[in-house]
Amino acid sequence: MPKPKTPQTIRCSFLPIAEKCQAACYGEEDPQIHFTIPEGTVGTALHELAALMTLTNRPPTTEIVQKTGTQYGVDLDDLTGLIVQAWQWWKSESDIDTEGGHGEVHMNGKLGPLELTGSTDWLKWDGEDTTLLLDWKTGFRTEVDVEAQMKGYAWASAQASRQRVDHDIFAQTVTAIVVWLRDQTTQTWKWEYEDLDAWAAALGKQIVEWDSKYEVGDHCRYCPRLFTCPAQKAIVHATVSSLRETHDHMALPELTGQMVSHMASVYARMQHVEQLCKAFRDAARRAVQQFGPIATADGRELVLTTSERETISAYDGWEILGDYMDDDGLDACMKVNKTKMLKEVASRANKGGKGKAQAKVMLELREAGAVKTTTVETLRLRNVRKELTDA
Ligand code: SF4
Repeated sequence: MPKPKTPQTIRCSFLPIAEKCQAACYGEEDPQIHFTIPEGTVGTALHELAALMTLTNRPPTTEIVQKTGTQYGVDLDDLTGLIVQAWQWWKSESDIDTEGGHGEVHMNGKLGPLELTGSTDWLKWDGEDTTLLLDWKTGFRTEVDVEAQMKGYAWASAQASRQRVDHDIFAQTVTAIVVWLRDQTTQTWKWEYEDLDAWAAALGKQIVEWDSKYEVGDHCRYCPRLFTCPAQKAIVHATVSSLRETHDHMALPELTGQMVSHMASVYARMQHVEQLCKAFRDAARRAVQQFGPIATADGRELVLTTSERETISAYDGWEILGDYMDDDGLDACMKVNKTKMLKEVASRANKGGKGKAQAKVMLELREAGAVKTTTVETLRLRNVRKELTDA
């Protein structure tokens, strides 16, 4: 098979995938369904509001938030919560001199024959100290490792800084900050220009001189080649035939020892296929949201249906429910979601005191006997630690 053409342009947001698997840059097909790191329209709306916020150094008014949220058709409460978090972070960073910063800065640089492009949410050139980059994220921090993306912006900004003609001195370092608005955490990196140059040169070489290898891993979830990649196809084919084989033997009165160990060895690949199915379902949902009902070859259509689910506010319904049941009854039907409760506690704590507040509330609840522990059985693969034995 002839080697596909070398890619021309790579976006910084694609670098977390490209760094792990250079094959991802060689998709000759143009799949209908593109994968991007999941931010969606709420991310677009938030970035627009945050750009205004950094430009004016003021939080956007409720009216503007509502207008932007309506324009993008996003949940207004969610958008409001995100922009409030962005503003709280922005105003709490009093050590950042925001004067002279720029919002939505587009950058590009030449990585050998490749063009690297990207836009960072906020940038401040600093001739004497460090160039400062900021990126807002509306996804969850656990979803993706964004270091390579930020390194791409940092390298491109270092290139641009060297070419700037309006000052003589340019910084020799770039500080990149990612603010994870949902998790209320930040990540910060500081790189020397020369380290960025070495990283960019090595990565450019790796991509251009791709060795035809495919590196399968978690990063595949957001790869545009996910459904056409030969490595993925091979894994799916092998796994599906193993599952069929296992399925045929399930009908036997008893599983053989050989079949039992076969099941364990197929398990990891089965999980991988499950992830692919989930990625496909998410992509199909986004496609229907974007294009409306999609007709299938057999005369049906893929649609999004809605159904109503009722939830009862414990706060508003407490007295009414008290007329129908005693405290034991209320306790049996009301549970506090631990994750949400800890998040609320953290959001009300002072900066730097979030972890302490969470630990304190859990301790108090434990002492009051309010924490109940249940045992949950989960099927999972784990590494077997080799025990040291006496010879
Ligand atoms: S799906 Fe995974 S293995 Fe295939 S090209 Fe993309 S990143 Fe590489």
